[in-house]
Amino acid sequence: MLVVMRHDATEQQVAAAVETIRRMGLTPHPMPGATRTAIGITGNTQAVDSRRLEVLPGVMELIRVTKPYKLASREMHPDDTVVSAGGTLIGPGTFTLICGPCSVENEEMILRTAEQLTARGVRLMRAGAFKPRTSPYSFQGLGIEGLRILEKARAATGIGIVTELMDTEHADAVEEAADIVQIGTRNMQNFSLLKRVSQCRKPVLLKRGMSATLEEWLMAAEYVLAGGNYEVVLCERGVRTFSDHTRNTLDLSIVPPVKQLSHLPVLVDPSHGTGRRDYVPPMALAALAAGAHGLLLEVHPQPDQALSDGAQSLDFAGFDKLLETLRRVAEPLGVTIN
Ligand code: PEP
Ligand code: MN
Repeated sequence: MLVVMRHDATEQQVAAAVETIRRMGLTPHPMPGATRTAIGITGNTQAVDSRRLEVLPGVMELIRVTKPYKLASREMHPDDTVVSAGGTLIGPGTFTLICGPCSVENEEMILRTAEQLTARGVRLMRAGAFKPRTSPYSFQGLGIEGLRILEKARAATGIGIVTELMDTEHADAVEEAADIVQIGTRNMQNFSLLKRVSQCRKPVLLKRGMSATLEEWLMAAEYVLAGGNYEVVLCERGVRTFSDHTRNTLDLSIVPPVKQLSHLPVLVDPSHGTGRRDYVPPMALAALAAGAHGLLLEVHPQPDQALSDGAQSLDFAGFDKLLETLRRVAEPLGVTIN
């Protein structure tokens, strides 16, 4: 349910409506807009008794939200959400690049990557300190030490940090070190983790589960929003299909429906989506054309030496070439690369 306040409703009337919703045992989510405030209601398992709210002073109308994801839906929140992190914005009109190696391998390569990226105007760096690996014998990440290295890179260059949280145990440490907390494909439906990051003071980058439907993905985002963290960025990273010519099948066709059904920004990860660096630039350009709000891109100073995902990582020369083409394509689309 959405309670739409009149444009001339006073602050006290909004506060009174919020309080009434709370007294009904429900959770109010006030959403101030350009012309009026709306209050989303969650927490109901049955239909809300609208008569109690309709008669409150300052209330214009009540709108029933039909989608199972309430706060993530455009029905509840027609305006696009813009997420601010690392001194930049993620949302409409911009195409935000989040670049960096798959894993934090050592201090030297992270500092070098951060310097190279900032020199090119990239404001956010990705790199995993905690790595979800298919094999227990593969490099598992540097853990807490990796977070310290990422903090050093931010202190040295000012770049914002995007890094993955794999379990609730490390939530405090990752929240502290990160500018955006990444939830990986394997954890998209880890509900205790989603509830934990709903309490975070940092935005959440929610990757699509490798077999998740659009509705399941938005329901996962709903967990984060329902807990009071309204800064969620979605990221398509490829799904499992019968196709075996790429690591995953990058489902760019999900971008238009996501933007239609939800107000949350959506990024695309062509690195995990294809698994091969020569396929990354065309799919990165396709993501821009499809209307995505940016990219999560693996870039490594020496991809051949990478401890994880070297085959899908661009080197700096490859990244430069892609960046130049992205800028040229973005211009006629009226989008700024940042
Ligand atoms: C990553 O981006 O580092 C990662 C592990 O991606 P995914 O969760 O999409 O596999
Ligand atoms: Mn990777």
